[in-house]
Amino acid sequence: MKSLKELYRIGAGPSSSHSMGPEAAALKLQELHPQAKFKITLCGSLALTGKGHGTDAVLKRVLGDSAEIIFDCRRENLPHPNSMYVSVLQDGKEVASHTVLSVGGGRIVFSGESLAATPEVYPLNSFEAIKNYLNENEMRLPDYVFSIEPGMEEYLTQVWAQMRATVKEGLNAEGELPGGLKVMRKAKYLWQSKHIGETEEIAENRIICAYAFAASEQNAAGGRVVTAPTCGSCGVIPAVMYYMKKQRKFTDEKIVRALAAAGVVGNLIKTNASISGAECGCQAEIGSACSMAAAGLAELFDMDIEQIEYAAEVAMEHHLGLTCDPVNGLVQIPCIERNAVAAMRAINAVNIANFLTYTRKVSLDTIIKTMYETGRDLSKDYRETSEGGLAKLYNKI
Ligand code: SF4
Repeated sequence: MKSLKELYRIGAGPSSSHSMGPEAAALKLQELHPQAKFKITLCGSLALTGKGHGTDAVLKRVLGDSAEIIFDCRRENLPHPNSMYVSVLQDGKEVASHTVLSVGGGRIVFSGESLAATPEVYPLNSFEAIKNYLNENEMRLPDYVFSIEPGMEEYLTQVWAQMRATVKEGLNAEGELPGGLKVMRKAKYLWQSKHIGETEEIAENRIICAYAFAASEQNAAGGRVVTAPTCGSCGVIPAVMYYMKKQRKFTDEKIVRALAAAGVVGNLIKTNASISGAECGCQAEIGSACSMAAAGLAELFDMDIEQIEYAAEVAMEHHLGLTCDPVNGLVQIPCIERNAVAAMRAINAVNIANFLTYTRKVSLDTIIKTMYETGRDLSKDYRETSEGGLAKLYNKI
């Protein structure tokens, strides 16, 4: 598995694969060909939902008038659902070409590079193997991360600072989100709307939802977020961790350790399945975020490794089959609410794990494999193309 820095990235929303990845691609093109012009053909999901996600806008922002952007929704047999073909031009003639894949979580792969171009850092690639190692060495998950990646504690401290900043900014913002769907921000309203007679439990749900809305609305507005594991699912982990800090008074140090544990789960999903909605549907984004959040919470509560595994497994299992069908290609409907629902589910998963871990029948490794196979079987209409589901029926009935 690769570094957790590859998983948790800080950058501008609204989409790790459709805005963060293309931004990285544009910067690399500029570096490789400083004087050139570019004809960039967006294909697959980048063509189908690129307008809504601002893919063309981010490419233009970096490359300016030197880039011509073409949307080709028809090209088939693509090397990846998020593919772009780049023609490098000098004096109107093609001098080089690149196929660029935006493979999820903000990561890009240029033609000629292998998917494994970034170094493998973690030697163990299954939860079972990691669990055995931890048991043999009497270690917890965060200590495993910090022993393999020195400096990761400092990096995750920055990640946590950005998550807090994103939630705070979102809680104080108001107005309509960009894109034309006329979606109003709701985080501040949720946060401040205490009802007469509200029970503690209902207040907890409302506040966690407010935090998830805050981060997700910041993402939809193109604000700075952390991929956790993607932009579209960037509200789940911050929501539960911010709640634990503010309402339950957990320290920043404990939360950084929880992020390390969550990162191991996210990394396993990314390595053995996918965190890309275009590849495996929303189960790969929101399902993964929920699974990571559940593992992080279980670590925060000092639960044992079996309980951490079960919490992460339950959280993923009950997102299996979740489709990706963003209306108008915008990361707003259903994405924002979905972050809030997943944040609450993560807490439920931890509650179940607290009582039922030793009755379980399904391992985390099995559920990750199941998610991948389910995702590959999903019709492409439900894999971030905005051609099926809610995206198709919205405003039509
Ligand atoms: S539906 Fe899910 S996977 Fe699709 S864009 Fe929204 S958050 Fe991402």
